[in-house]
Amino acid sequence: MYQRYHIETGSAPDIVPAPGRFRVKVKKIGLAGLILKEIVHYRGNWTVVLSRPCMYGVFSGPVGGFAPREHLCVGCLRCTTQYPEFVQVSPNPERLRQGDSFFSPDYVDALYYEARNGKIPVRGAGYRGPFGGVGWDGMWTDMSEIVRPTRDGIHGREFISTAVDIGSKPAFLAFDDQGRPTNDPVRTISLPLPMLLDSPPASLLSQKLVETMRRAAEETETLLILPIQAIQQFGVSSRVAVPLVKPGDEARLDRLSFAPAMIELDGWHQQFYERVRKRLPEGSISLRLAAGSSEELANYVRAGVRIFHVTPNYHGRWPDGRFVLDLIRDTHRAFLDLGCRDEVTLLGSGGIILAEHVAKSIICGLDAVALDTPVLVALQAEFLGECVDRATSQFRLPTALTVPWAAQRVKNLLGSWRDQLLEIMGAMGIREVRRLRGEIGRAMFQKDLEREAFAGIEGYV
Ligand code: SF4
Repeated sequence: MYQRYHIETGSAPDIVPAPGRFRVKVKKIGLAGLILKEIVHYRGNWTVVLSRPCMYGVFSGPVGGFAPREHLCVGCLRCTTQYPEFVQVSPNPERLRQGDSFFSPDYVDALYYEARNGKIPVRGAGYRGPFGGVGWDGMWTDMSEIVRPTRDGIHGREFISTAVDIGSKPAFLAFDDQGRPTNDPVRTISLPLPMLLDSPPASLLSQKLVETMRRAAEETETLLILPIQAIQQFGVSSRVAVPLVKPGDEARLDRLSFAPAMIELDGWHQQFYERVRKRLPEGSISLRLAAGSSEELANYVRAGVRIFHVTPNYHGRWPDGRFVLDLIRDTHRAFLDLGCRDEVTLLGSGGIILAEHVAKSIICGLDAVALDTPVLVALQAEFLGECVDRATSQFRLPTALTVPWAAQRVKNLLGSWRDQLLEIMGAMGIREVRRLRGEIGRAMFQKDLEREAFAGIEGYV
């Protein structure tokens, strides 16, 4: 029976208390004076007296403002505006140590919220940040309702598909004299959402983490990329696992206890590719790249590769300095120039750390995203310093992590991001994510707009 795709989200509160956004400092003598005044004013109504002056409950604990409940503070500044002589509110320095310079504390906050319950973070008072910036912030999605109807996003009265096909597709169908198709068999994997789980850093691989990711991938019907050594060491035997292999792994491939739907090659080695192709003629083969030019891509396409996975570092930088956004656009354009865009699949990881980045990266030309650091943040992993390089970055997972909790957090993350993708597509009037790929007409780039407006004016660079 047909069932609409749905991710089962649920409550999975933080196991490590997240630091609040603000520190609230109260001078006890000033507060005691206020309480005395207000006991008289409110005629001994203790609930009111002890809650003043915060409507968010910061001063409503058992001993009122003498032990402020800082985690409830939203930074409205009412208290410090009304009583500047004894209340001070300041950013919590502990929170500023979360994440790193790219995965900033605000992003960590948003992701924690999504992972706790699978909901979409909403700012009731509207967005108060800057409207442009570097990286992803220099790209805006166009949701103009004038030129297209808004569709019904996550509420589901109108279905919007997030299904994608991973694999090689023929450019056209060919038939012999008897009308039988002569194309190679189509090898595609259909996923119900354009998000895969990428391999965690080698230093974090453990039975618990692998089991968590396998369970989350199975329950959301997506794929999980894992080094073949980890697959064997932790006894993974599931079609959702995509073995990541390199030359020398042939014997391991032979010993696999399941037939993988896809295999990922860790870098390009022509002979190894041919060997894997021969051993697994039915499986899809993806090529994982951490460097390379458009000319090299053309060579790989000519050699028969049809799935590409670009993996800039965790800050979204390619070795030549390009940001992931530009890298995706260039790669997409290179496939267009080769005339093979619809025959190949482009996956990407690195620097895609917010739900909006998924939509933006697909508009730039990705078919699907393989999530890396967002999964770790959902599991409350601590960043040990700047986490840039994939091989050397260090994270620490909470020791209290359990598989059911962690799997639910990953599912919540995927559910929330899928809902946000649906909202974006709904606002753009796009009915399926396959049509969003490379749909650059739905985006505006700050650089282009500024050039159009200011080029030729003195002072514009
Ligand atoms: S800043 Fe606002 S939310 Fe925070 S303690 Fe003061 S009144 Fe309450």
